[in-house]
Amino acid sequence: MKKVVLFLLFISVLSCKEEKPKGWIDQERLNNRAAEDWLTLGGNEQMQHYSPLNNINASNVQDLGFAWEYDATTIIGNVPRGLEATPIVADGIMYTSGAWGAVYALDAKTGKQRWIYKPEVDASYARRACCDAVNRGLAVWEGKVYVGTLDGYLVCLDAETGSVVWSQDTFTDRTKGYTITSPPHVAKNIVMIGNSGAEYGVRGYVTAYDLKTGEQKWRFWIVPGEPKNGYETEEMEMAAKTWDVNSDWQTGGGGTSWGESAYDAEMNLLYIGTGNSTPYPIWYRSPSGGDNLFLSCIIAINPDNGKMVWYYQTTPSEIWDYTATQNIVLVDTEIDGKARKILMMAPKNGFFYVLDRATGELISAEKYTRVNWASHVDMKTGRPVLTEQGQWYKDKPKLVIPYLGGGHVWQPMSYNPNTGLVYIPERSVPQVFKAFDPYKYRDDVDNTAIDYSNMYKFSKNVPEQVTSAEDTLRTESLLAWDPVKGKVAWKFPEGGPDGGTMSTPELVFQGTRTGYFNAHDAKTGKKLKSIFTGNGIMAGPTTYSIDGEQYVVVMAGYGGAETYGYLPDGVIFQYQNKTRILAFKLGGGETPLPPKQIKIRTPAPPDTKIKEEHISKGAAIYESYCETCHGAFGEKHLSQHPDLSKLTEAKHMVFQDIVLKGILSQNGMANFSNSLTADDVEAIHNFLLKKQTELYKKEQEK
Ligand code: CA
Repeated sequence: MKKVVLFLLFISVLSCKEEKPKGWIDQERLNNRAAEDWLTLGGNEQMQHYSPLNNINASNVQDLGFAWEYDATTIIGNVPRGLEATPIVADGIMYTSGAWGAVYALDAKTGKQRWIYKPEVDASYARRACCDAVNRGLAVWEGKVYVGTLDGYLVCLDAETGSVVWSQDTFTDRTKGYTITSPPHVAKNIVMIGNSGAEYGVRGYVTAYDLKTGEQKWRFWIVPGEPKNGYETEEMEMAAKTWDVNSDWQTGGGGTSWGESAYDAEMNLLYIGTGNSTPYPIWYRSPSGGDNLFLSCIIAINPDNGKMVWYYQTTPSEIWDYTATQNIVLVDTEIDGKARKILMMAPKNGFFYVLDRATGELISAEKYTRVNWASHVDMKTGRPVLTEQGQWYKDKPKLVIPYLGGGHVWQPMSYNPNTGLVYIPERSVPQVFKAFDPYKYRDDVDNTAIDYSNMYKFSKNVPEQVTSAEDTLRTESLLAWDPVKGKVAWKFPEGGPDGGTMSTPELVFQGTRTGYFNAHDAKTGKKLKSIFTGNGIMAGPTTYSIDGEQYVVVMAGYGGAETYGYLPDGVIFQYQNKTRILAFKLGGGETPLPPKQIKIRTPAPPDTKIKEEHISKGAAIYESYCETCHGAFGEKHLSQHPDLSKLTEAKHMVFQDIVLKGILSQNGMANFSNSLTADDVEAIHNFLLKKQTELYKKEQEK
């Protein structure tokens, strides 16, 4: 009898093992990550964006070439959208996400599609996405794939087939400007997801769902709601003490969490980063000031109950869009002769933070880029010490470094245990901060209360703007940072820095907006290989190995906040923005280039009389509602969305219906009937007609 039981037990253990299909990722597998796999967005549990694979190395990377491509074209409309996710690979199967929350499962050796998931997304949410209909990645866990859709659903898919297991609406209020662009993160029995929309006036939160059933387990609010309504959690009661009772509560406060999180299974702590404020000027948001918790924080949460274990605020009283949603990296290392379990982040505000990840204790905070708003971080209080430039820009504009895009944004930085260095896509851009005065909250549009019209116009004669000639410099780099010494190890200044990084023992890989995929020496920064792809690349690369052959893969497709029209060296203006996944291997071939961009001549404007009295009103509305996506006109048009000075006769005829009835909503052009009247649209139309007439005449004269 005993033997039979033992035998049956043996059989069931065996069959249990066999039941796990290819691509199955669980805690045990994560703890013993095989070099050939890339199991999370960051590759490993520590989210380091590092692989120990060294088949491709400093001595042979010159032979890196094209292996395959996969056409990851947008699932809605025909405007190419940015690709920002880092692919996950296990057992030769690749899972990754694209615009709107589409999911691709591919054979990682050939790029052949296994299945594709096309969510039925309400395309009108694109108008609320400050930074394009992008998606920053998914989670693969125990035979399931988890992804967020732009319009707010967290979807659980079967990893074998791509069929929907469950789907949950994560939004608390669909009248507000919420979207999801962020990746979900698995922590023990839950999958957590945040959202975006702080610029549009929302109140940030993250929500946790049961992995298997999708049942909501907890919600962690990031900023408090109106005090008279009471507080959902103890944390909110505590946070409310750092806000003016008479805060502009309808604006939501912001704080949305949309970056890469991390989970330490041994400590059972889930780490999230929180975003910026709405509106940016605190004198409108929380008039008497205050730290405004938990804006711009790094927070450790117990995933079993959603309670906060510790927090650290990087930018108290945030007024510059200084999110702390940048990617979180966990490292076990030695600092001052002591073994430490640390958490690292290089948030927008320009300081590189090293925290004890058990307690939240600040270990170091050094400037990794130029910073003029604070002189340093006081190690006793953990608070930044503000300079004159860091004071409120209430009465006069102030030139601040870093600008609202930060010293580092969402593009993942990577940590290399072999060199001990962190590789940061860094940039240093000054900006003049000027608040609108007066400011009034408006539903569903940009509520930052910032006048962007002259943000890059510096005046040497205005002392509150420029304190030295250097203040006006704009620089970019691939930066190697020593987190233990708290200083720069090397800096590679050439080329665009806007791609995420990935490192292997001897190399750092990074794509650029100028169309290259580069490999650098991890120790020195020297560029060892540069492949021209014709694609603007933003996403972080992945590496893995199949049958002993190592591949390096990156999602290539430009978009997002990067295309706001001030970086004319982007390759997007020479080659069409073909959104694809590119794979490289040793001995690979030439990378096929996308088709060249075609210059469209301005069509003859329709024979309509332009109503001059509408022009200035139309220009102002265009700036508030249209310019973020459509950008400027003619030669100055540096956006992939249509140049509205080149509208065809047919589009002119239905202009009102496009804007107010959403007849092009399936192309991603939203219906604006909630915020604009027929008169408003008439004004925009007249403004556009005037632009088209001017540009048409100019071209004819040439
Ligand atoms: Ca922001």
